[in-house]
Amino acid sequence: MTDETLVQLEHAKKSFGDAAVLKDISLSVRKGEVVAVIGPSGGGKSTLLRCCTLLETLDAGRLAFGDLVAAENDGAGRAAYASKDVLKQAKTRFGLVFQNFNLFPHYTVLKNIVDAPIHVLKQPKDQALAHARELLAKMGLDGKEDMVPCELSGGQQQRVSIARALAMDPDVLFFDEPTSALDPELTKDVLKVIRDLAEEDMTMVIVTHEMNFARDVADRIVFMDGGVIVEEGAAADLINHPQHRRTQAFLAKYEED
Ligand code: ADP
Ligand code: MG
Repeated sequence: MTDETLVQLEHAKKSFGDAAVLKDISLSVRKGEVVAVIGPSGGGKSTLLRCCTLLETLDAGRLAFGDLVAAENDGAGRAAYASKDVLKQAKTRFGLVFQNFNLFPHYTVLKNIVDAPIHVLKQPKDQALAHARELLAKMGLDGKEDMVPCELSGGQQQRVSIARALAMDPDVLFFDEPTSALDPELTKDVLKVIRDLAEEDMTMVIVTHEMNFARDVADRIVFMDGGVIVEEGAAADLINHPQHRRTQAFLAKYEED
């Protein structure tokens, strides 16, 4: 891990109608860092990730990717977003892996992976294909190039979506409950791939309910509840010695399982 900050979110606020879903959230992610975000359902974790990945707009706050400022408060304290060009550039700096894979169902595995590198990054086709094959091998998916998503297990589909995200050479990868749709057996394969990426110092922000995984793989854990960061800290400290009552109550539920 270095001192270089890849993602910086400051004083983020987001409401849907009357419901304040993010209430002044600040989160920065350093290069090489793995941050796990945990917390009860409805706490705002997905909204946080969707705001960080420009799928939702902040009402207020600042969001920067290294030197690229995507949003910043205007004089009235409302988040003002950068130009389309800047946002387009910002979007090449991160990848997002969803709970439900979100692969293109009618594209082959290979086409799912090379589509954005070829059409967005304008990579030469040969180069994109070679990189995709390399990534598939790394995900343990040799020989699946020409299949379509429905021919693969959920765990394999999720590994294709990780390969697809990596094909863009992002600085940082965001995961929103990458294993929540999977059986325990398939979960293991996906967690192993993410562990390997952590070993390679890939910068990642992972929303997860896998507490053992979070404790072992993350550098830092952020506990979110009710739209605020209740507590954050070094992974083992937070899991083994939660300070806040809400964190303690949340973790106690996992121990019962
Ligand atoms: P988590 O991922 O921690 O379960 P979410 O970020 O999905 O939490 O949701 C937080 C709250 O925001 C929930 O009450 C949810 O119903 C609400 N919410 C999320 N997205 C929307 C939306 N697009 N429109 C209205 N309400 C939303
Ligand atoms: Mg969610």
